[in-house]
Amino acid sequence: MSNLRFSELGLSDEILKAVDKMGFEEASPIQTAAIPPIMAGEDIVGLSSTGSGKTAAFAIPMVEKIDPKLRKVQILVLCPTRELAVQVAEEVAKISLYKRGVHAVPIFGGQSYDRQFRALESGVQIVIGTPGRVIDHMERGTLRLDELKMLVLDEADRMLDMGFREDIERVLSQVPAEHQTLFFSATMPRQIEELIRKYSRNPRRIVIEAVAQNAPQVEQVYFEVERRSKIEVLTRIIDINDFRYGIVFCSTKVMVDELEEHLHARGYSTERLHGDISQAQRTKVMEKFRRRGFEFLIATDVAARGLDVDDLEVVFNFDLPNDAEDYTHRIGRTGRAGKSGKAFTFVSGRELYSLQNMIRYGKLKIRREKIPSLDLVEEARENQFFEKLRATLDAGEYRKQERLIDRLLEQGYASTEIIAAVIHLMFGGEAGGDGDRTDKMEKADRVEKAGRAESWEGAACGGKPEYREKAARPAKAKQKYERPARAGREAGFVPLFFSVGRKQLVTPADIVGKIAGVTRLPADVVGAIDIHQRHTFADVREEHAALIIKKVNGIRMRGEAVRVALADPEQVAGE
Ligand code: ADP
Ligand code: MG
Repeated sequence: MSNLRFSELGLSDEILKAVDKMGFEEASPIQTAAIPPIMAGEDIVGLSSTGSGKTAAFAIPMVEKIDPKLRKVQILVLCPTRELAVQVAEEVAKISLYKRGVHAVPIFGGQSYDRQFRALESGVQIVIGTPGRVIDHMERGTLRLDELKMLVLDEADRMLDMGFREDIERVLSQVPAEHQTLFFSATMPRQIEELIRKYSRNPRRIVIEAVAQNAPQVEQVYFEVERRSKIEVLTRIIDINDFRYGIVFCSTKVMVDELEEHLHARGYSTERLHGDISQAQRTKVMEKFRRRGFEFLIATDVAARGLDVDDLEVVFNFDLPNDAEDYTHRIGRTGRAGKSGKAFTFVSGRELYSLQNMIRYGKLKIRREKIPSLDLVEEARENQFFEKLRATLDAGEYRKQERLIDRLLEQGYASTEIIAAVIHLMFGGEAGGDGDRTDKMEKADRVEKAGRAESWEGAACGGKPEYREKAARPAKAKQKYERPARAGREAGFVPLFFSVGRKQLVTPADIVGKIAGVTRLPADVVGAIDIHQRHTFADVREEHAALIIKKVNGIRMRGEAVRVALADPEQVAGE
């Protein structure tokens, strides 16, 4: 079936005008196929991929069917999330712009009941809500459905994924028998078939085949990465390519939090987006991201859904998406408008098989690459530095330094020596090549190296004397304790004990990331880190030790609630 113009679908002038104003030129395939039977009162099941225009496919006939004079709820739309409820409500508002007397309201958990009571009492005809809150209002008697004509389940597959099956069944079983039921979904799992069989009368099935959505302008690569190395690889790829604008997708809220803390601690400018973050905050983050107010957004699929950006430099699948469609949806946010985008997918262990299935069945074009080595990172840094240096030379800004150079030359240094020394200083982080970010990155590298070297040499603690006294150790322990301090502890640092270690796959980056993440202190409050089988010692700046203990104590690290305390010398001596 070829697409129809909206004017060929038997719609009112008000709707045609609104759709025109929305910039829709012709109806999409799902709209072409679904609008006429819905207008005719049929039950339908509409299956079509994400982004194919399912919202308007039901919202247009829905608005047409409202009786504006009847101020009772006539249509109920169930959506999986608040974002989607709000999005659908916005689309309904646009579609009904020129229709008088059509009122719609989104209701969802987290919003004040007061506001929702008032909206429901005011005589709205369309309610768009998440299943939990809808049930809530039904049971309080604040949402009455005795005049209901139509029930829509939008993104039915997502709702089931999110565990709303019981809630949905409760709604379905409590609405009046005489109504039209519409199911919209991107996929058709068995559970939905069951719901349809149980609650719908011989619906018309509309299936729009997805055109193989390959995005040739997006360079797609996957890496096999050990789980605990993912962050390291991520930062390498960012640095090598000098990316400044992208999304990193994770599969869980916990992972989003953890990763964002790490990246933040390493000096990247990041924000997070997931379901536990307040709506107001989410809106703020999305807004800030759109105007490039920070570099990397760390998000779950669902939370990122309402985000309409498409000019990203890069998309990372830090965790594998659920299916080929989610994959395509994620990476579709890069490589638009003729610009080339990049998409990197990390798989660890058996995820490789899931990815291979996705590639096969979703006809994706993702090629495997080897993880970039540290040498490559170094090389990329050198190249970036080289470019910067050349730009400076071209701009002629170096002349200002001539006097200083003359002085050095006079004292007998060769010009190549002088340059080498300057570069050495810059790469050492002292003269701050690329500002904050490079410094912190290098700090993290140093910390990591220190951790790997496992360089504790017997003695536990070389903190200041006052600190040792305060700790009030028993005499015997104190003796052991006062063996020479480990060479290299920086002055002003004290060691902390963490109750997690190698067994929990803790890395130095975890420690630095958590500390910096929860305290919002810079990463350099952490010095050397020494990871043991079940615990870890980390040097931290003495003036921040108390805050770090307070903030980090009890939070989860690698799935375990971590205990933090000033390091106990007995324990260290016993190693
Ligand atoms: P789905 O629910 O299938 O994932 P949406 O309804 O959210 O898709 O629509 C995706 C995008 O396409 C939205 O930005 C919407 O405004 C736009 N859109 C929908 N129908 C049309 C159309 N006929 N012409 C142009 N754009 C459309
Ligand atoms: Mg939708």
